[in-house]
Amino acid sequence: MTGESKKESRTNKQAIIDYVAETGKSLNDLKVTDLVQITKNKALGGKKKKAAPIRILTYDIETSLVEAQLWGSGKQYVGHDAITTETQIITVAWKWLGEDKVNALKWKKRNDKTLVKKFLEEYNQADMVIGWNNNSFDNKIVHSRAMKYNFTVNTLVKSFDIMRQVKKVFRLPSYSMAYVSKYLGLAGKLSYGGGIRMWKDIQWGPKADEKAAMQTMIAYNVQDVALTEEIYFKLRKYLGNVINVGAHRGKEGIVCPNCGSKKVKLDHSTTTAAGTIQRVMSCKKDKVKFKVTNSKYLKSL
Ligand SMILES: [Zn+2]
Repeated sequence: MTGESKKESRTNKQAIIDYVAETGKSLNDLKVTDLVQITKNKALGGKKKKAAPIRILTYDIETSLVEAQLWGSGKQYVGHDAITTETQIITVAWKWLGEDKVNALKWKKRNDKTLVKKFLEEYNQADMVIGWNNNSFDNKIVHSRAMKYNFTVNTLVKSFDIMRQVKKVFRLPSYSMAYVSKYLGLAGKLSYGGGIRMWKDIQWGPKADEKAAMQTMIAYNVQDVALTEEIYFKLRKYLGNVINVGAHRGKEGIVCPNCGSKKVKLDHSTTTAAGTIQRVMSCKKDKVKFKVTNSKYLKSL
């Protein structure tokens, strides 16, 4: 053996020893997947690669009114051939979880192409997005505008739609963000005093009115994002989970899906109708509850 290959085999041995010690697996039980992981660990020079922090984006959009050509007023069906313009994004506001700044963009010359391009640079980085009714509205509008301009968009993004989660758990007289924030005693949504006027000024008004209305819309948009995040934190422990932050960070064993903490305890055990045992765990840090399989639970003891 040359000096070089002796050194190589020593690091191989060390990588296996480290792996066995870390995972608690027996040397005789190592499978191909384990060997692949050992090779990967070795490539990282024995140092564990620090997992990239998870990126969670809270956002909200304001969209334009569409124009339609009608014979007159009254209750009626408006077909697509009567519609003469498209829904565009007038403003978007967003905030990364863990950062203080709320960012905002507005359309240019009553066109959203640059806004969409710039916002997608943020949106496409998100591991999860948070919004109010965003599964049905905001996400799909963002996808549609990306598709319009042939831009790449992560249509598979994990999404935490607070309104949808709230509807699963609570019965409230209204599920509007304004109502829920009032119910929670939070400062509340700024109300659009002028109703549809703000949109009319922005889309068709003279310069001065357009400018003033735009400033108001951005202020509302920014405020809504801050409020969405506040409600998210306030209700977090009651609502389900759409991703597992712990697993995302490469942690093994039972980890909190919301914060990635390993400080979790058994809340209670239950069974499915088919007789499978399920364990409901609770995170000591943020009180978030989550289910794990019985085998995963037993393995963690
Ligand atoms: Zn947690």
